[in-house]
Amino acid sequence: MAEPLLTFTDRGIYCPDGDFHIDPWRPVDRALITHGHADHARDGMGRYLATEGAAPVMRHRLGDIRLDTVRYGETRTVGGVEVSFHPAGHVPGSAQIRVARRGEVWVVSGDYKVEADGLSTPFEPVRCHAFVTECTFGLPVFAWRPQADVAAEIDAWWRGNAAAGRASILGAYALGKAQRLLAAVDCGIGPILTHGAVENTNAVLRAQGLMLPDTVRVTPETDTKAHPGALVVAPPSALGTPWARRFAGPGGAPSTGFASGWMALRGVRRRRGADRGFVLSDHADWAGLNAAIAETGAERIFVTHGYTAIFRRWLAELGYDAAVVETAYEGESLDADADESDQGGQNAPSPREDLEKGL
Ligand SMILES: [Zn+2]
Ligand SMILES: [Zn+2]
Repeated sequence: MAEPLLTFTDRGIYCPDGDFHIDPWRPVDRALITHGHADHARDGMGRYLATEGAAPVMRHRLGDIRLDTVRYGETRTVGGVEVSFHPAGHVPGSAQIRVARRGEVWVVSGDYKVEADGLSTPFEPVRCHAFVTECTFGLPVFAWRPQADVAAEIDAWWRGNAAAGRASILGAYALGKAQRLLAAVDCGIGPILTHGAVENTNAVLRAQGLMLPDTVRVTPETDTKAHPGALVVAPPSALGTPWARRFAGPGGAPSTGFASGWMALRGVRRRRGADRGFVLSDHADWAGLNAAIAETGAERIFVTHGYTAIFRRWLAELGYDAAVVETAYEGESLDADADESDQGGQNAPSPREDLEKGL
């Protein structure tokens, strides 16, 4: 029997025929990268291949790397194997990677979500025989409401705070979530301020042509009183810190909100010390995962991160040939910013990390 098209190694997902890895977590010669988040695009690879849309953030984060880029849908031959990148709808530039050999097709999803967010190229299902999927939110309790509804909730919260003379501090990951929120909220309500980690990513994405509203970078010199009724977008770990307390206004302490898929779980918001939780994720919910998997037409499913054991069992009950594979990928991190953290496979608390590193 021929070797499988993709294998799962302690360095990452490997294609023996093409001699390349996908999203490796240890140094390899040739790496195909699904997107710029730190658990997928790591330092130390000999050569990188990624989409044009993912490249600027990767260069910003990883410095002077040997990086070749492709457009969505463009086919390359690597080794003897055909590869192409297809929209994953997770963050700008994010891709599913399709690998084909003599009519056999495997797809590695990276991270994905199926709802169009107005900023990332929307998710496109890709037909395949084997599908390697995340399942960060692979439980029925995770059922997202449309983004427009969540944006309206955030607007109402911001408007109410502004009327009461309070700032609104919204915790959101610096790459992806923050920009998606900036593009979705009603910027007529008041000024928008950004933490440096968010604004650095904004600058990279604006430079590649993405449309974001005007924002004001918060620096140590910023006079926080000069922006009454502001929305302040910051990494989640900035909530509850002295940095956040600077925004006290005539109406008192700022109100804090946290936008994450985890806000669907009772108790998480309270433990995070946020006044409001907004259920918004850059990952597919239960229905999204199931729909995406069905649309691939694949019979073999490999689950990489999230509620893997439960989700694998569910898929097996549906008749799929399903297996869990061990990886170092993270889901939607609760504490550290997923963009910045390097701690594989868990929501390990590391509250200062993204503040110190910035993106
Ligand atoms: Zn990601
Ligand atoms: Zn990830």
